[in-house]
Amino acid sequence: MKTIFSKIINKEIKADIVYEDDDIIAFKDIYPAAPIHILFVPKKEIQNLAYATEDDLILLGKIQLAIAKVARDLGIDKEGYRVVSNIGDFGGQTVQQMHYHLLGGKKLGTKMD
Ligand code: 5GP
Repeated sequence: MKTIFSKIINKEIKADIVYEDDDIIAFKDIYPAAPIHILFVPKKEIQNLAYATEDDLILLGKIQLAIAKVARDLGIDKEGYRVVSNIGDFGGQTVQQMHYHLLGGKKLGTKMD
């Protein structure tokens, strides 16, 4: 099933893209939960981390390194930031295409729910 993120990947709908390569796209979250809130989405359709396989090993590594690069480029690597991936119903996932949230730009709380 096509998600809103597939439409962003295919440039059918607009997003504020901050990073893109052959495998990954990253864009600002439309409802930011922190001063910096960027979503990193693999272009390959994977519902969430629970559906990733050995075939996705390199892709998973690339996403994490892309997050670290963007955080460095934004100058938040020294002060720190948070990386989150919501998985399934109990994890609070609302868009059924694997993605990681990069949150930063302020001191984040310790509460995780
Ligand atoms: P989830 O809840 O699945 O972990 O995260 C989905 C995220 O996608 C939410 O933080 C939500 O604000 C964001 N989002 C939903 N629809 C759109 C959209 O059309 N454009 C952008 N840029 N973000 C979206």
